[in-house]
Amino acid sequence: MSNEKTERVTLHLLPPLPYADNALAPVISANTIGFHYGKHHKGYLDNLNKLVAGTEFAELSLDKIIKETAGKADKTVIFNNAAQIWNHTFYWNSLNPKGGGEPPAVLKQKIEASFSTVDACKKELAAVAMTQFGSGWAWLVLDGDKLKVVKTANADSPLTKGTKPLLTIDVWEHAYYLDYQNRRADYLNAVLEKLINWNFAADNLK
Ligand code: MN
Repeated sequence: MSNEKTERVTLHLLPPLPYADNALAPVISANTIGFHYGKHHKGYLDNLNKLVAGTEFAELSLDKIIKETAGKADKTVIFNNAAQIWNHTFYWNSLNPKGGGEPPAVLKQKIEASFSTVDACKKELAAVAMTQFGSGWAWLVLDGDKLKVVKTANADSPLTKGTKPLLTIDVWEHAYYLDYQNRRADYLNAVLEKLINWNFAADNLK
């Protein structure tokens, strides 16, 4: 038997959207989803597949690539594309056409223990999302036993900071500019009231 290794090409694939492209309208239009998912998210995937081909990262999972390139100056481009793929998949799951409303009991208790009320948690999410200067993300994370709201710039992820992401909101301008132009607050309030997927956040607590 030959010991020859078969050359493997492991491509990162674009995960299907968890709903139709018009399902989040009118809060987020099909037009925005078309560019955001079809061009931006896919673009990061195409870039990453090219960047890692034939390198030591070629057969690593997305999580591993993110963790192994984080904070390394000579790997910034790979980190940015890998983390943006992860962040966007997580964002699509953080939204739901039937979102908003009350979190499931197990999550609600944790929110109340950390922020006193669900409204206070939503206000803090909106506040960090508003004060992220330039491109980035707002996150609800589990830090030890407590819930926290944090922001990250550009492609940065709480994954590399020892906390567990529960949900995220994209505050890059491409996430809202077609629908809201410069009105980031209107985008955030509509997402928090109508789309935020507390069930997904509760599942991530496990
Ligand atoms: Mn985005």
